[in-house]
Amino acid sequence: MSKIKTITTSHEEAFLTEEAVEKLKSLIQGDVLLPSDIEYDNARKIWNGMIDKCPALIVRCTGPADVIDSVKFAREHDLLVSVRGGGHNVAGNALCDDGMVIDLSKMKGIRVDPKAGTARAQAGVTLGELDRETQVFGLSVPSGIVTTTGIAGLTLGGGFGYISRKYGLSIDNLISVDLVTAEGKFLTASKTENEDLFWGLRGGGGNFGIVTSFEYKLQKIGPIVLGGMLLHPMEDAREFLRFYRDFIADAPDELTVVPLLRLAPPAPFLPKDLHGKPVVGVIVLYAGSIEEGKSLIEPLRKYGKPLVDGIGPKPFRALQSMLDVSAQPGWNYYVKSEFLPALSDEIIDTLIDHASRITSPMSVIAGFHLGGAIRNVDEDTTAYSHRNASYSLILNTTWIDAAESEKHIQWTRSFWKALQPFSIGGAYVNFQSFDEGEDRVKTTYGTAKFDRLSKLKKKYDPTNFFRLNRNIKP
Ligand SMILES: Cc1cc2nc3c(=O)[nH]c(=O)nc-3n(C[C@H](O)[C@H](O)[C@H](O)COP(=O)(O)OP(=O)(O)OC[C@H]3O[C@@H](n4cnc5c(N)ncnc54)[C@H](O)[C@@H]3O)c2cc1C
Repeated sequence: MSKIKTITTSHEEAFLTEEAVEKLKSLIQGDVLLPSDIEYDNARKIWNGMIDKCPALIVRCTGPADVIDSVKFAREHDLLVSVRGGGHNVAGNALCDDGMVIDLSKMKGIRVDPKAGTARAQAGVTLGELDRETQVFGLSVPSGIVTTTGIAGLTLGGGFGYISRKYGLSIDNLISVDLVTAEGKFLTASKTENEDLFWGLRGGGGNFGIVTSFEYKLQKIGPIVLGGMLLHPMEDAREFLRFYRDFIADAPDELTVVPLLRLAPPAPFLPKDLHGKPVVGVIVLYAGSIEEGKSLIEPLRKYGKPLVDGIGPKPFRALQSMLDVSAQPGWNYYVKSEFLPALSDEIIDTLIDHASRITSPMSVIAGFHLGGAIRNVDEDTTAYSHRNASYSLILNTTWIDAAESEKHIQWTRSFWKALQPFSIGGAYVNFQSFDEGEDRVKTTYGTAKFDRLSKLKKKYDPTNFFRLNRNIKP
């Protein structure tokens, strides 16, 4: 092995000696992968197929000890470092060119304590894996709606999904985290220990250290719940979305109804003649008794003439994984998002106008239905911002042929631009793409919170070692 080309934190070319790499390998219990290794190409793949980065080293850690030694090694050699949890983030910050990836995806430990109603999960666990272990006890951590997403990135950004209106964000159910700092120190953060850090970790992303495990409070849900998808033709979108808006205005926190617009996918639960046709619809989940839910959503189901009504009692895990088929790893993704208030007539018209010009049959426009328990937590309790938003609207643009990228990206940008007058300020940090700059991060947190986060960064990571993220500079 000759010298390995790397890059420093200030983006200067540097080289690692064979001895240095061998020393690292002797410490690490997991794998240290170099470009010459057979597994390297697979290890540098993440969910978004648009991201094609070639790190100098990928360290697949098996536990906190590997993380500590990786951080110390990177510090000693001034290496640019990225941190990978589930590898789902659309911006692709889990990887870097020529630097070192600290990859936690093999850290899959989960321990559920059903009596205490808590769970501890390591940073490589995905949402589906956590639900598998908790649902056997009729419990869950409020999280997201695609099961292959990592708990790590999702939780550090906030984390919302079908039961967040009832039980809050993932971070509202976070009891503590174990973390490795930029100096390679191991510490715990909770409401009683390193409290300032715990505040910043709940929404501040991966800026303050590498979390090795998360301890959550579990909530009662399922295993069978009422939910599913309801679709109408796009011609009826204006009337349907207005009806939906009024129907949902006083909905209890148990009810989450996510509106969506797209071309009907070739999904097995949809009739063949519908595939590729423009549709508007909702995904429903009622986090309460099935009978209560049925009577509550009756007006929604009775409205107009739905093309498909797939609402009924289902396993909670089936609902959690319902959208997995539309979010396959390796496809090309580009995302724009905005926090929005309740749907006005103007917002509805803008959504329909741009949805009717959708460029890809795989793209989805969805409004994460927020409010409820998310809104009931004071804005200053955590770094996560815009708890008053009614929706986190996501334009999840998806396509396969890389030659078409420009067309799809342009459609997304123009749609997103049209939404700006309605924005309540910025977008969820976990839905920001690679082309969104520092100003966007500032807008998302607001000046006061951004300053507080910046001070915290100075305390825990003064050299900005953890910089490949939605970065908050010290
Ligand atoms: C298909 C899809 C559906 C989604 N649905 C939802 C949803 O329903 N609700 C929701 O809230 N979000 C959702 N998201 C957004 C999701 O929360 C983010 O993409 C999140 O960053 C994914 O976490 P990850 O660990 O898989 O990502 P990664 O790409 O591995 O990590 C993202 C970033 O998080 C940081 N990070 C990761 N692990 C650690 C760690 N252990 N310690 C410190 N920093 C770390 C790093 O900065 C890294 O760059 C969705 C994303 C996708 C692609």
